[in-house]
Amino acid sequence: MQVWKFGGTSVGKPERMKSIRQLITEDGQPKVVVLSALSGTTNALLSITESVISNNIAEAEAKATFLKDHYDSFIRELYLTEKGLNAGQEIINREFDYIQKLIGTTPYSNKEEKEMVALGELLSTQIFEAYLQEEGVDSLLLPALDFMVIDEDNEPIMWKIEKNIAEILAPHKGKQIFITQGFICRNPSGEVDNLKRGGSDYTASLIGGAIQAEEVQIWTDIDGMHNNDPRIVKNTFPIRELSFAEAAELAYFGAKILHPSTITPAKMKGVPVRLKNTMEPTAFGTLISEKSTDIEIKAIAAKDNITAIYIHSTRMLNAYGFLKRVFEVFEKYKTPVDMITTSEVSVSVTIDQTTHLDAIMSDLREFAELENPDKDQVIICIVGNFWADKEGIAIKVLDAIKSIPIRMISYGASEHNISLLVDAKHKNDALNALNDGLFKK
Ligand code: ASP
Ligand code: MG
Repeated sequence: MQVWKFGGTSVGKPERMKSIRQLITEDGQPKVVVLSALSGTTNALLSITESVISNNIAEAEAKATFLKDHYDSFIRELYLTEKGLNAGQEIINREFDYIQKLIGTTPYSNKEEKEMVALGELLSTQIFEAYLQEEGVDSLLLPALDFMVIDEDNEPIMWKIEKNIAEILAPHKGKQIFITQGFICRNPSGEVDNLKRGGSDYTASLIGGAIQAEEVQIWTDIDGMHNNDPRIVKNTFPIRELSFAEAAELAYFGAKILHPSTITPAKMKGVPVRLKNTMEPTAFGTLISEKSTDIEIKAIAAKDNITAIYIHSTRMLNAYGFLKRVFEVFEKYKTPVDMITTSEVSVSVTIDQTTHLDAIMSDLREFAELENPDKDQVIICIVGNFWADKEGIAIKVLDAIKSIPIRMISYGASEHNISLLVDAKHKNDALNALNDGLFKK
């Protein structure tokens, strides 16, 4: 069994949905198909939520009507039969009635907000399943809310997901196509929740891991993970093969094509992940697996909106326990640290979640001296095989970027990553300079 995930743009137009129906059935192989919401829907639902929260009910209702119009015309192009169209209209009416009900709920809490944002995937999957039925495809809709569960720390509970899916699939041996929602799940209180923005990729790999799939395929509209950001650098190319470790670094450090958590369950269960392009289905794409290739420098990615914090020990030389105290502060505020550099008396760290920045600074000040944090920084991450015994790699990277001021450098944490911190204003120049220096023959 394979797991195939299609993102918002892949299901965003009726003709795209039709071509997906073709794609998932033509090889005759059984699969679980994970869908995102139609492109724009999740943002639209969040925007309705914003209006409700700011007490602008009329505005929320107008936004909901606008969105419903979009779905009404979508299904008129999708279904070919009266019966199909009626089935589609029934789904839309029911779910938009629910949106109305949520808009009118007071108080409108976190719970309502999460139910609202879940409707995108609930709509796309039901509409698609009704289309498959109209087309006579042997398919079944599996509600993700019946098996996808997270714990108090918002982490998926793998063993439970595995058990739930096994039970749900057991009575359906021989079924060709299962459809399910990406992104949405239930929390420990049994409420509707989600795996964070872009989380449908994560759903796919969680399911892939849970059923020990042959392969997880993430279908988007570009031809795999590129060696650099194609929006900023010209002549980038897709990377054919990446190891789990390399792909995880790239996804985490900014390659937008994949949700960063996606690699973990696939890697844990040894399930390969392939990135494919719906516009060019026969292209190879990018294969992410246990296997690593010996290409030295594979790719560059950039992560925006980074804040650097500079911390100096007041107890000066040879003090121990300092780093422990520093990291306890970040742990207390559940704020992940991305990059670290140290000297004997100082440590600099970067974070991308700044919700608790003031509190973190004030706790650190109790035992350390701080400089003003630098906001609007970018981590540039160079991924490849940087074996410990290999000479000349750092010089290549630094030489390529010699005209750009660098704030922090991290080398040697893993054999696959060199990270540099630069001010956002130098990002584009840095990516281009690295591209010229590292990829141009
Ligand atoms: N629909 C969700 C989002 O827009 C999840 C996803 O597309 O992966 O973030
Ligand atoms: Mg995505």
